[in-house]
Amino acid sequence: MTVVQDGPYRFRIEPSGAMRVPGVVFASRELLSTADNAIGQVANVAALPGIVDASYAMPDVHLGYGFAIGGVAATDPRDGGVVSPGGVGFDISCGVRLMAADIDAADLAPVLEDVMDGLDPAVPRGMGRGAVWRPSGREELTGILTGGSRYAVQRGHGDERDLLRCEDGGAVADADPGQVGERAVERGAGQVGSLGSGNHFLEVQRVAEVYDADVAAAFGLSGDQICVMIHCGSRGLGHQICTDHVRAMEARMPRYGIEVPDRQLACAPVDSPEGRAYLGAMAAAANYARANRQLLAQAARRVFRRAAGARLDLVYDVSHNLAKMEDHDVDGGRRRLCVHRKGATRALPPGHPDLPPDLREAGQPVLIPGTMGTASYVLAGVPDGRAFYSTCHGAGRTRSRHQAARGVDGRTLRARMEADGIAVRASSWRGLAEEAPDAYKDVSAVVEAGEGAGLCRKIARLEPVGVVKG
Ligand code: 5GP
Ligand code: MN
Ligand code: MN
Repeated sequence: MTVVQDGPYRFRIEPSGAMRVPGVVFASRELLSTADNAIGQVANVAALPGIVDASYAMPDVHLGYGFAIGGVAATDPRDGGVVSPGGVGFDISCGVRLMAADIDAADLAPVLEDVMDGLDPAVPRGMGRGAVWRPSGREELTGILTGGSRYAVQRGHGDERDLLRCEDGGAVADADPGQVGERAVERGAGQVGSLGSGNHFLEVQRVAEVYDADVAAAFGLSGDQICVMIHCGSRGLGHQICTDHVRAMEARMPRYGIEVPDRQLACAPVDSPEGRAYLGAMAAAANYARANRQLLAQAARRVFRRAAGARLDLVYDVSHNLAKMEDHDVDGGRRRLCVHRKGATRALPPGHPDLPPDLREAGQPVLIPGTMGTASYVLAGVPDGRAFYSTCHGAGRTRSRHQAARGVDGRTLRARMEADGIAVRASSWRGLAEEAPDAYKDVSAVVEAGEGAGLCRKIARLEPVGVVKG
């Protein structure tokens, strides 16, 4: 495999073997060196039928199931383009929501422990444990699967304004609950409004630095303000859907004459019964994930109102694991493409018609969690954004959960964080240790590479004040 630098923060994997297009990795030389086998995965994805332009990787790229995490790939259904569940990931529509409080860090300090003690029981988390909302039956669950945050708001969990600040207005179209298997429904029914484990969290943060005050103001952010960031996805429901549809596609691939370099890249033509079935189920899981974030946001709002007398306004809600039909200019023509973003965030440029009017001039807010001990970022989409208007989704792992947990004991880690002034509410010591900040790349370096590559720009840096860990 030949990898050559062909621009600032940009590397090209020359097409070879089964690759139909080149690979393009946006990264610094140093970040590239931590990506290891993920680069081979970027090359593998370039072999998918109907892929257009390039197989892209964001600066936080690391090894994933079939597709690298941090991968972006678009296929053209009119050219036999495929959809691949591995290009979305197991946690369908996992994403990030940021809310801005009407208080600043000094106002919060005297009541921080009360807020954290309120959040601790209010945020269900850990493996399969409890949830904010137990749907009353099949009808309510179907409402969630088709209506997402929109349905949650209709049922009194939030207000209309929230929906203006959600990607897709809070609900993905074309969800097909009929394609969601029985086992997936069973797993999902008891988990609506729960974080899940490990990497998922609800974090109280402080705006530590503002890089563009005007755009920050448009997002509702200013220096020293308190924010709440929520990272979670579609729980057991999404995971089961991915498992079920990978299996179904694997069985059918030979009949479509599709060969892939890695069986984890199981896929089917977008315009095939299997492709449509997956996309319908995936959209249902995406709506589930959005309702999930909406409900956890409401739980946080109740605690902040009670313990701090504060209001939380939604800044934005993004998904970083999704495949979506989008229109893009490729090779001088407008084409409708199936854009896979796995561990990658959509970043619409200023002026894009899909942005709500009050954000249109600023561009889309992009929310980048870093680690519970360092920093997170708010970015914005830029004119002429690349990779189908995409950017990174986090810092990205450098060490496995197992390696991280071997390096530090959970109790020691919490003591260290508390000494740094970060309040910690963990659900398990092992889980906390797996998320040690040094298991991740340097989020500031990732964001700098994203900005340098022309994918996004920095608006604000957030630092952790209190962490509720899955
Ligand atoms: P993923 O969706 O790939 O599981 O995670 C996205 C990103 O979240 C990770 O790459 C990591 O940078 C970030 N992250 C994981 N745990 C935490 C946390 O507790 N706090 C913050 N702020 N970020 C985290
Ligand atoms: Mn997730
Ligand atoms: Mn995620």
